[in-house]
Order: sequence, then C-alpha cells, then structure tokens
Amino acid sequence: MYVPLVLTQFLDRAKTWYGDNTAVVDGGRRVTYRELYDRVQQLSHGLKSLNIKKGDKVAYLAPNTLEMLEGFYGVFQLGAVMTPLNTRLKPSDYVFILNHSESSVLFVEQELLPLIEPVIDELETVKTIIVHGADANTNGHRSYNQWLKQFSKEPVIRAEVDEHDTATLLYTSGTTGKPKGVLLSHRSNYLHAMSAMHHLRVSDSDTLLHILPMFHVNGWGSPFYYTANGAAQVMQRKVEPASIFEKITQHNVTVAHMAPTVLNMLLEYYSEHQPPLPKQDMRIVIAGSAPPPSFVAMVEEELGWEFIQVYGMTEISPLITVSTIRPQHDHLSSGEKQRTKAKTGYAMIGSEVKVVDSGGKEVPSDGKAVGEIIVRSNNVMEGYLKNPEATSDTIKNGWLYTGDMAVVDENGYIDIVDRKKDVIISGGENISSIEVEGCLYAHPDIVEAAVIALPHEKWGEVPHAVVVKREDSAISEEEIIQFAKKRLAHFKAPKSISFIEALPKTASGKIQKVQLRDQFWNHSERKVN
Ligand code: ATP
Ligand code: MG
Repeated sequence: MYVPLVLTQFLDRAKTWYGDNTAVVDGGRRVTYRELYDRVQQLSHGLKSLNIKKGDKVAYLAPNTLEMLEGFYGVFQLGAVMTPLNTRLKPSDYVFILNHSESSVLFVEQELLPLIEPVIDELETVKTIIVHGADANTNGHRSYNQWLKQFSKEPVIRAEVDEHDTATLLYTSGTTGKPKGVLLSHRSNYLHAMSAMHHLRVSDSDTLLHILPMFHVNGWGSPFYYTANGAAQVMQRKVEPASIFEKITQHNVTVAHMAPTVLNMLLEYYSEHQPPLPKQDMRIVIAGSAPPPSFVAMVEEELGWEFIQVYGMTEISPLITVSTIRPQHDHLSSGEKQRTKAKTGYAMIGSEVKVVDSGGKEVPSDGKAVGEIIVRSNNVMEGYLKNPEATSDTIKNGWLYTGDMAVVDENGYIDIVDRKKDVIISGGENISSIEVEGCLYAHPDIVEAAVIALPHEKWGEVPHAVVVKREDSAISEEEIIQFAKKRLAHFKAPKSISFIEALPKTASGKIQKVQLRDQFWNHSERKVN
C-alpha cells in the first residue's frame, strides 16, 4: 500500500502541526493555519454548490493574495484543477486561455475585472464569475466575501484523488511565443515541493515574502512547500521596491524569490535611498533568467543576503537545478565563489540533467562545449493541453528538451549560455546574448540591457544592444561599444546600440526579446554596416 502524493496533505499537515502559526499576512489581514484551513473548507463547499467536480478547471485571475493561496487548496480538495492566469495579459488572451482550458468558474480580483468585462460575451465555458476584494463595485457579479460567508467550516467531503490526477494547469510565460497550457499532476507538484524544500532549507521558522506572482511558474511551488512547513507567507501584490524593503524589515522576512529584473530594481533602489536593512538572516532565491555575477557580489556584500540561484521551467513544476557552494569550491576566492553561484548549477533531487550536442551525445565538462539541457524527472509535465505535437516535440524518449543551451564546468555545474532561440550566430560563431548583457550590466550608467541579433549581409547576424541608461547619463553608443570591446572578444561586442525608456517584460519580469526583435529588426540597415 502506498499513500498517494496529493497536495491537500500539505495544508492538513500545516493545520495539525502549525495550526497557531501565522499562515498569511495580506495587507492588514493576518490568518493562522487553522483559520486558513477553515476558509479552505468554506471555499470547497462553495465550489461544490457551483457543481465543481473532479477534473473541472477553476481559473484565478489575482495577484498574490490570501484568496489566491486558499484557492489552490479549496480546488484540490474536490480533485478539480487550479488554473491560474497571468495578470498582465490582454483581454483577448483571457478569452483564448479560458476557452482553451474550458474553465467553468473564474475568480477575479476586483481591480482586474476591467480586463475581463469587455470580453465576457466571448467566454464559452465560464458560467460564474466571483470577485475578490472589497464588497463594492462587483458590477453585478458575486462578491467573494459575501459568497464565502454562507458556507460551513466543517471539513468538506473530498473527492478521491490519485497522485497521477491533474492538479494544475499553468500557461507558460509566452516569452518565445503563444503561451502553452502545461498539465501537472499532484505527484509532480508534490515531489517537486519535497525537493525544493530540501534545497532551499524551508522550515517553520521561515517567513516568505511572496514577490513573484503565484500564478506564474517562478512563484510556483511556494504555496506548496512553504505551507507544508508551516512558514508564514507575506503577500506582496505589486513589485514596488520601497514596499518590499519595508515588508522585509516589518515582518522579519527570511526568504524571498525574485527574478534578476526584480533584484535589479531593488539594488537600484537601495543604492539611491539606502532603506534600513533587516536584522534577521535573509536568503533570496533567484530564478527566471541568468543573473550577472556582479549581482551576486552586490547582494552578498551590500545587502548581506544569501544568494541562491535556481533554474526551472513551467514544464518541470518548475525547479531543475540549484547553484550553491560545495566542498569542492572551498579553495576558491570569494570572487570565484560568486561566479559559481551565478552559474545555473547542479540537478536537484528528483531530476537527472544532461547537456547534449545535436547528435544526443553529452558534451565534455570543459566549460566550453555548448549543448542543449535535457531533463528526466519526477516533476515533468503530463503534456501540453490539446497540443500533442508540441508535447512530442518537447519530450522525446522520456527526456524533456528545454531549449536552453549550456556548458558544463569541471565540477559538473551547468551554466546556461542562452536560449536556443536567442543565440546570435555571427560569422559561424555562437554569441551568447546573456554573456554580452552581463558585460553591459557592469557599466555604471546602464540600468538594463538586452542583446538581440540583427541581420547582417556579411556575418549573417550581429549583436545589437537595447539599453536603458541612467536618467542623468550622457553616455553615447560609441562609448558603450568601446566598453564592451575592452571586455569581450571583438565579435561579441554589440555592433550598434538603441536607447529605450523601458524594456518589454513578461509578468514575472523576463525581457521579451521577441518583441525587441520585432521592433528593431527593421531599424537595422541604418546602424549595421
Ligand atoms: P515560453 O515557453 O512561453 O516561451 P518561458 O520559457 O519564459 O516562456 P517559463 O516556463 O516561465 O516560460 O520559463 C522557463 C525558462 O526561463 C527556461 O527555459 C529558461 O530559458 C529560463 N530560466 C529560468 N530560470 C533560469 C535561470 N536561473 N537562468 C537562466 N535562464 C533561466
Ligand atoms: Mg519555455
């Protein structure tokens, strides 16, 4: 006999062992795990009254809130499928995702209702919309607060759920194209949570600041592994540096997950305003794209926070590797240790990772040979919803092809050099856009940078940098190019620069190079010669 690995166990455990611990702080609201459990029972009763059954999709359009967190468990108790939506999409994208997923109920935060209202008539399967937030202005829809109140706190009769049943349907970021619906089972999410809680050393003395959106893979998993351990979860609804620093000190936050772009904003804010730093130990978990090594130094030396980098993707629940310092690095200088932490890292428990060439052979561990990262794992998705071709293009012979290109160092640490789609091929040489960006970030006048390929008659492609400079800076295109030439092989230095106010980003803060390529590809003739 085995116990099925179902996600409801995490909240049950928190209620039993950490019932009086603070579960959630959301603005002025604070609830314990016992109270959270009760609210989750009410929610499940409510969903039952709407006829939600095993396998049904329940969609959420919300920032990080108490309601969003309880949604996961309320939905799971009925064996239904949690389908969180990115809050930064266009109304037509919601039509696509809600119809594609066949969601029948939609919970939406009051302030996001204007994203849905214009397209309500186009929703084919959503029968009920329930609005989170203050009770006013629900525009004729049900108010969550009023609705929830009517239901009992008695434990709901749960559906029979097997670990292989689908728990979540999560759409990818759409960094490289249209978002794809990733189906993840209870088992995948559960085993991922077990692995993450080990590698990130999660315990009941932790207080997490939920900065990355829970609807997205970067913030994903946190509602499972922090809950399972009875940690406090402080909700951050928007990425605002002042409020983030304030919450960290006010609530004694010990851990926060961020993308490099968010971290960059915090570092900028810190250097300008010097807000008070927390007294307690803090660790930050960085995922989403490769951080420049200079970030590690700044975080550790200026803020005094521990830097942990992880790599993941929606299709793998998400985390695959972690980059921490191990005994074989003892002899390294602190600068070299920081460079190691900026690498992508080594496989987490539950995943096997290889870097292979186009013939499927593992590349040598020399830090130079580039191949694609492939993964075999307990955490791999069941597949993309209604997209068998994309599924079979991605998972081949049990291995998932990530589309991320990497090298492997002599200690077996993987380091992503670029996405397959972002590598610049110039005169037959591969240029990692990430490496060039890392160099540009070292310039004190550059706030943000993204490097893309532009077409070129002689070289095929050449690197072009799109740069956000500091407001008061008068730095020129030529100065930046010379700066890069001093630090990089000449062919890797950008051939041209465009200055821009802000880079286009996904909701989790990833730079959307597809959009930049659309925008700048046509400007290329003038600049490139
Ligand atoms: P889409 O698949 O829709 O184009 P996406 O790939 O950005 O969007 P996600 O699943 O959110 O969707 O992101 C996973 C990708 O993010 C990885 O494949 C990798 O390219 C990148 N990534 C994640 N963590 C890191 C990291 N630590 N270093 C470098 N890249 C990372
Ligand atoms: Mg992807």
